[in-house]
Amino acid sequence: METADIVVIGAGVVGASVAFHLAARRAGRIIVLEKEAMLGLGSTSKSAGGVRHQFATEVNVRLSMESIRFFETFDLVMDYPIEFRQWGYLLFTASEKKARVLRTNFELHQRHGLPVEWLSRDDLAARAPYIRTDDLVAGTFCAKDGYLDPAGVLQGFAKQARQLGAEIRLGVEATGVMISGSRIEGVETSAGPIATRCVIDAAGPSAARVAKFAGVDIPVFPIRRMLVCTDRFDAMPARLPMVIDCDSGFHFRREGNGLLMGWEDPDEKPSDSTTFDPSFIEKLLEPALDRAPLLESARVDRRRAWAGLYPETPDHHPLLGRMPGIEGFVLAVGFGGHGVMHSPATGKVIAEVVLDGAAQTVDIRPLRPERFAEGDVVVEPMVF
Ligand SMILES: Cc1cc2nc3c(=O)[nH]c(=O)nc-3n(C[C@H](O)[C@H](O)[C@H](O)COP(=O)(O)OP(=O)(O)OC[C@H]3O[C@@H](n4cnc5c(N)ncnc54)[C@H](O)[C@@H]3O)c2cc1C
Repeated sequence: METADIVVIGAGVVGASVAFHLAARRAGRIIVLEKEAMLGLGSTSKSAGGVRHQFATEVNVRLSMESIRFFETFDLVMDYPIEFRQWGYLLFTASEKKARVLRTNFELHQRHGLPVEWLSRDDLAARAPYIRTDDLVAGTFCAKDGYLDPAGVLQGFAKQARQLGAEIRLGVEATGVMISGSRIEGVETSAGPIATRCVIDAAGPSAARVAKFAGVDIPVFPIRRMLVCTDRFDAMPARLPMVIDCDSGFHFRREGNGLLMGWEDPDEKPSDSTTFDPSFIEKLLEPALDRAPLLESARVDRRRAWAGLYPETPDHHPLLGRMPGIEGFVLAVGFGGHGVMHSPATGKVIAEVVLDGAAQTVDIRPLRPERFAEGDVVVEPMVF
């Protein structure tokens, strides 16, 4: 039987980063299985590419700090362009309660030395004259946040992983894992079995299905999210930050000379559907026009609208690390809307878990898979 030191299931941005970081540390023979015939057909290429430090939990802030440092030199180090525009994230709220959350987050960010600014209503009006600010209570802005090309990040990781000897097998689906006692012995695939002592589940929205191969139930579920673009739109600055209304979840950024707009439909239920629902446009326009009346003159390009899946978890944090009870089974799953931005740190810490026995770069204890069974769960509220 063919053998590998490590098999990674899924070549999205997470699996590719994990493969790169393992290969960079000479972890032996690494095989990445990707069921699709091409890279980037999963959630990764559907992403808005937003990258931010502005989270509420320490672990998310630390994952962002590590990752954004990596993105800042990605083009050079990984020899692949990702068009990282550090044009900031602007967050704001009209609610006193949410302003208190923003304030607590701001203090956390300050403790980490991040260049986050606290903004009053007047500051918001001066900084963002393109939104309606009359009802706003407060906001924050971090100039080191921004957005990038998610497909570029995936391709860059995959390119360097291959150059360092990792094999990415396209069109090969993992269909099961082989277990002896409680230890991983191999992976069944559509192209035959591979013997290995280490399997990493990086299957994105299909992560729970892959975990089930090992007889494990994990709380990762797919939920549809949609984005739409506008035609050329000159009524806002060319250099827009990612602008987020924390109350409605409506957000937008530049995409070429138009805009990319997103919103979380509260009626959306978990499902595998990646079909774009045209009624989403009307629904999104309500919070959009309320917050940015200028958008009245924007023309939505219905051909540049798509749907993808968030691999969600109940606490909006990923599951990272070894799965207790199954020796050799490691999870890198459940990234919700943060998988692209946290991919560099994830690859690094998973390589540390596999090769050193524990993560060194970031304390990922809050992300351990068993936290749900232990009832030790902290929810990340800053999700959009
Ligand atoms: C509309 C939208 C907007 C988003 N915006 C952002 C954003 O602004 N910033 C951000 O950071 N994130 C964002 N995200 C989230 C981000 O896209 C995901 O968190 C991230 O792509 C997850 O990466 P992944 O590698 O885990 O999953 P995927 O990219 O889905 O990769 C998993 C891969 O595993 C493969 N696979 C599954 N099962 C098997 C199997 N049995 N055998 C072999 N291969 C298998 C799949 O084919 C897939 O290619 C957004 C997502 C959506 C849908």
